[in-house]
Amino acid sequence: MNLLLHICCAPCIAAPLAELRRGGADVTGFFHNPNIHPLLEFRKRLRAVEVLAEQEKLGLIGRPEYGLHEFLRETAGHERDPEGGARCAICYRMRINATAALARRERFDAFTTSMLFSRHQNHELISSMAREAAAREGVAFHYADLRDMVEASMEIARKRSLYRQQYCGCIFSEYERYEGRREEDKKGRRERATTGERKNEGGEEGERGTRDKDSGAETMRS
Ligand code: SF4
Repeated sequence: MNLLLHICCAPCIAAPLAELRRGGADVTGFFHNPNIHPLLEFRKRLRAVEVLAEQEKLGLIGRPEYGLHEFLRETAGHERDPEGGARCAICYRMRINATAALARRERFDAFTTSMLFSRHQNHELISSMAREAAAREGVAFHYADLRDMVEASMEIARKRSLYRQQYCGCIFSEYERYEGRREEDKKGRRERATTGERKNEGGEEGERGTRDKDSGAETMRS
């Protein structure tokens, strides 16, 4: 089966790629993500995909373009939607539709998307949108639930020093990630100040807990 794999980021396909191949798929990658901002972040994620593709001898199709304007046009009015809301549905659809259309044009047997391999995304919604796009374009959708490979993928990404992003992708998710973090930090400082006062009264518990929470644990978002 000639399979067109939409790739959202390198860590999401690091382990699933081998699994798809084991299942008999001849995989070609497609990096189409108008939702990734700003430009330098887009380039970092694209570069990681190119590096992994080279290591895995994975062919890539299409010319990846930075899609800020297209994305903002499509999601206008949804700037303040929380993650998982209507903006994300538009974002999924943009990427799925482009993948299904390309699969039809280039005569692939089927298409799928690495968004299905993420535990952070709405798996059911992505599947149903992909099925709709498949019916519309007259090309098969290859469903694969490889969310149980997240840890294996992260391990590969870590070992190969592949870039691992810290937020979902759009400028709104970046804002939520870091502004949220700033608010958390502020709250943490306030709590530490209060706990410190208590500690001076004879306790140490709260200080250590907060410090651990703020210690910059390694995370990856997609
Ligand atoms: S939060 Fe993620 S899925 Fe939602 S719109 Fe932004 S990039 Fe897309």
